[in-house]
Formats: sequence, structure tokens, C-alpha cells
Amino acid sequence: MPDSANEPILDIRDLSIIYPISIGTVHAVQDVTLSIYKGEVLGIVGESGCGKSTLGLSILKLMKPPGRIGSGSILYKGTDILGMDDRTLLDMRGRNIAMIFQNPLTSLDPLMSVERHFIEAIQVHEPRTGVPECIERAKKILADLGIEGNRLKEYPYQLSGGMRQRIMIGLALILHPDILLADEPTTALDVIVEAGFTELLIRLHELYNLTVVLISHNLGLVAQMADRIAVMYGGRLVELATVNQIFEKPLHPYTQGLMNCVPNILLEQKELNAMPGSPPDLVGEPTACPFAPRCPKAMDICRSRVPPLKDYGGRRTACWLYEGGV
Ligand code: SF4
Repeated sequence: MPDSANEPILDIRDLSIIYPISIGTVHAVQDVTLSIYKGEVLGIVGESGCGKSTLGLSILKLMKPPGRIGSGSILYKGTDILGMDDRTLLDMRGRNIAMIFQNPLTSLDPLMSVERHFIEAIQVHEPRTGVPECIERAKKILADLGIEGNRLKEYPYQLSGGMRQRIMIGLALILHPDILLADEPTTALDVIVEAGFTELLIRLHELYNLTVVLISHNLGLVAQMADRIAVMYGGRLVELATVNQIFEKPLHPYTQGLMNCVPNILLEQKELNAMPGSPPDLVGEPTACPFAPRCPKAMDICRSRVPPLKDYGGRRTACWLYEGGV
């Protein structure tokens, strides 16, 4: 859990990421300020295109081209990642901050055995580590993942989807990073495998004393794992609060809409609630609340001014409804 007395392990300040296109500039991430504390699990949620994956990739300075940083900083233990040279960045990726993606098949080399993946992952950072030691370390981490050591000789096509995703976690954790970024880690898994995978992530979070940034549209997964939730809409952070605050009393109308979309087995519901409208066009700077066209509570001010993100006793939201307090 965050402790305001602690220094954040990751401090994102006024971050904007832009994509120049022929008709203007897409503001994929805009003015995001967010601190992440050691040991916590921060969930980042929102619809497709809201900027959550771009934000996650930017933490490793891995934005898809032609995206670039418009402004801001990302401090890892006080050092700005965005100002690091290529060599320092390369060393930091995997060693200090590691990432797992939604589809392990696109991350694993089909021509390399699992063992070879682990040897490369270690030796790229520690070239003097010999193959026998790499294999020993790989076996140890596989044991933590509930995978037998003899699977090291296999190739990605010989493994199930769940097993491949666990191998990806093993590769991400082999150098014992401080922070694990998980971008939609369960999207490619069926519900049964997903449940086991979620339990595994929770166990590894404790075992490896990890700080986890969990990017997902799966509110159930985030509810199980996260300490705090950041809600993004139209490239902006619109709400940040503890998981209990978000699920018990969401403030932002967009967060309220997201919660209404979650099926509730305690209610007799014939149809699922859906949020009307589409996500906003991110070309150009907004001049109004980006959620206004879809918001059931929109007021005149919402259509002419962008609401700032404000603090309300430790939780934050960006909505004109709360100008007088929450
Ligand atoms: Fe709705 Fe206005 Fe709040 Fe935007 S600022 S979410 S339009 S009430």
C-alpha cells in the first residue's frame, strides 16, 4: 500500500506522449502525474485507446513509433528514465523494471528453446555468467512458477498458452527487478487458466517483493490484485483512489459507468449495462471535458473547460461536479 511518508519508487510527472499524423497531433497521454510506491500493486484501467498501454510502455521508453515524449518526466528512484542514454536504458530494462505483454507467442522466439531464452535474458545483462549457472537460476524460478525443470528443453510451440505466459513471467523476474509492468497479462488466457494465473501473480508479488503496475480492462483481475486504481479516459488520468474507494464509491462519472458495466450475480439482470457513445478523438488539444458527450451529468462548464485533476483527501478525480468538494 502507498505510504505518503515513503519516496515513490516511480514518479511520473506531467507526462504527455504525442503521435504526429498528417492531420495534426494525437495526444495519446496527456498531463499524467502519478506516483507509484514500493510494494504496491497499481491497476491502470480504461477502454481501448485510453492511453493505458502507451503509458505503461513509456515507463520503459518503448512507445510505438512515431510516438514521442511531448513533455514531462518519469523518475525511477529519482533518476529520469526519459533522459537516460540508450546503454543505461538497455541495462535498466529487465534488471530494474521488467514487462510482460498480453500475447507471449509474439514475445517468445519460436526457434529458441525455453532454456536458451533464459540464458539470453541473463547473459545480456551479466555476460560473465556461465551457462550452467543460468540453467540453475532458470530451474529455480521455474520451480516458483510451478513448472518442472525438464520443460527448459522445450520450444514455445510445445507449451500451452498458460504455460507460455508463466515462462514470460519467469523471464521477466529472472534478474529480480523492482517493478513488474503487466500489460493485459490475462487477455490471451481462458477463464480457468486466468484464475490460476491471477493466483500466481499474487503469490509472486509477495515472494519477490515486487511493485506491480497492472494494465488491464479486466476490472475483476484488478479488484483481486490492486491496492490502488488509476482510471484513464482520453489519454488523461480521471480518477485515482484505493481499490475499495473505487468499487464502493467511484467519483468520476466515467468510473461509475465502468462499474455499471460489471455483471453483478446478486442482481436479477436480464441485460448488461453498456456505456453509450465512443471514446473521444485524441487529435488536437481538448477544450472541454473529453467525457462530456457521453456523460449523463454534464453541465455547461463541462463543454467549455477541461476539468483539472484535484486531490480530495488523498483520492483524486478530474470532474467539475466536485468543485465544492466530494
Ligand atoms: Fe461529466 Fe462534467 Fe464531470 Fe466531465 S466534468 S465527467 S462532463 S460532470
